[in-house]
Amino acid sequence: MATTHTTRMLIIGSGPAGLSAAIYGARAGMEPIVVQGLQPGGQLTITTDVENYPGFRDVIQGPWLMQEMQAQAEHVGTRMLWDTITEVSLEGPPFRAIGDSGDIYEGDVLVIATGAQAKWLGAPGEVEFSGKGVSACATCDGFFYRGKKVVVIGGGNTAVEEALYLTNHSHDVTVIHRRDSFRAEKILQDRLFAHPNVKVLWNKAVSRFSGDLAGGGLQTVELVDTVTGEASSIDTDGAFVAIGHAPATELFKGKLELDDSGYIVVKPGTPKTAIPGVFACGDVMDHTYRQAVTAAGTGCMAALDAERFLAEHEFAAAQAEAVV
Ligand code: NDP
Repeated sequence: MATTHTTRMLIIGSGPAGLSAAIYGARAGMEPIVVQGLQPGGQLTITTDVENYPGFRDVIQGPWLMQEMQAQAEHVGTRMLWDTITEVSLEGPPFRAIGDSGDIYEGDVLVIATGAQAKWLGAPGEVEFSGKGVSACATCDGFFYRGKKVVVIGGGNTAVEEALYLTNHSHDVTVIHRRDSFRAEKILQDRLFAHPNVKVLWNKAVSRFSGDLAGGGLQTVELVDTVTGEASSIDTDGAFVAIGHAPATELFKGKLELDDSGYIVVKPGTPKTAIPGVFACGDVMDHTYRQAVTAAGTGCMAALDAERFLAEHEFAAAQAEAVV
């Protein structure tokens, strides 16, 4: 039978943003419920080595970091529930979400931390070599390719920025793009073209990632010319797929303002959406930084603002009651 779960603070999403909001929210007495989605723990659970999350001198594992965050959130009083939210009603408070299970979740505040997913090419070998030479995040993994050859696939801002970032570690960066011009901003393109350590392969699509799965990892990216159909290949140590991200905002279409790329629009410098009491944090509202630590930071901001919202709301309700 369907159950209704009520809380002062309902959080959808269990990556670093959602769990940080939960840790702060629980410690502030908001007794949060976190509804974990299809990928409990978020994107970090599909990465391996993490070397840039503060507080750990040694390399840690993404899944382990998320387990620790969840344990911490539960330790301070968060209820973690597994369900996939299929519908939301933002006409609150209370704000209401309905899960795949049929259960209903109601919160006096709602924190949206549903994250984003890197888009993948779907080329053969991409999944097999993921974490063994294939990555979707240069800031996360670029450091592991110091002094090595790398390629970046894509032609937007992300691809060009990632290629430029990788020049900090590699003297041999090649951008592979399926057309003969980039869609990235001109200033970024100018910077890329002026860089002596970056080459561009135009009109090339990836047909396969290959190498030695048992040993050295990725070795070659096989290509096909999108104009002539000619096959070629490039030897490389690392391939960064940078063809965009898709924020998980399907649920909020028509209910919250989304930008052209589908990210939730918040008031600048805050996690506040246009609906009082509804907050968004982490990658679902941030297409620029997209780091675990920035997601955690905005999760904290959402909890602090949620606490203020509840205090003001409850104070106003108490005053109205006193007048009556
Ligand atoms: P974009 O959608 O802008 O670009 C994606 C790129 O990947 C395009 O060049 C596209 O090719 C290519 N691509 C898409 N699918 C495939 C595929 N299957 N095979 C090969 N290539 C493919 O994504 P970005 O992540 O670059 O940017 C997303 C948004 O975030 C944009 O609005 C961007 O401006 C913004 N952004 C801003 C930044 C900043 O301001 N500093 C930094 C990063 C992003 P094609 O061009 O042929 O379609």
